[in-house]
Amino acid sequence: MYLRSLTLKGFKSFADRTHMVFDPGLTVVVGPNGSGKSNVSDAILWVLGEQSAKQLRGQAMEDVIFSGSSARGPVSVAEVTLVLDNSDHRLPVDFDEVAVTRRMYRSGESEYLVNAAPARLRDIQDILHDSGLGKDTHSIISQGKLDAILSSRPEERRSLIEEAAGISKHRRRKERSMRR
Ligand code: ATP
Ligand code: MG
Repeated sequence: MYLRSLTLKGFKSFADRTHMVFDPGLTVVVGPNGSGKSNVSDAILWVLGEQSAKQLRGQAMEDVIFSGSSARGPVSVAEVTLVLDNSDHRLPVDFDEVAVTRRMYRSGESEYLVNAAPARLRDIQDILHDSGLGKDTHSIISQGKLDAILSSRPEERRSLIEEAAGISKHRRRKERSMRR
């Protein structure tokens, strides 16, 4: 499984539809300060169901909607679609590609879609469960969190790496069976 593409429209600084395609392997996003690099990772967090405006570096959830610039007025809806390549069927769905969409209107109304069909946040969480992707894993590390990780104790750092690598669940299982 890997990130296939990300499409933003009306999300933070991305007023116009912006489509990014990723290949397997490493992708690096570069650009000057304030050009929107962190907004790209915010979009990935958001589409995967992030509910905290603070985690998205805003005051209120509405702050994810493009609020206008000197050149143009605000928009009324933010939309992000993340396409995951599932040809290895690591996600428990029959499709080779899973497109997750989140949309939010200024009225506060919000909706999720999976492969263009209306879905609940719960459905998305179920699909991502055990994949290592998702809001409570360490698959996305923010700029501020990096310092915390570097200055953490070796034991804490180790458990973080184990979680990211998906081996902490095996460790828990092993400990459980050793107790028997
Ligand atoms: P750095 O290199 O400093 O980390 P960056 O490339 O990560 O910068 P971002 O933090 O992604 O930059 O982008 C910040 C820009 O996004 C700011 O110019 C800010 O005004 C703009 N921005 C954030 N939210 C919105 C919004 N809702 N509407 C319009 N612009 C927004
Ligand atoms: Mg940044």
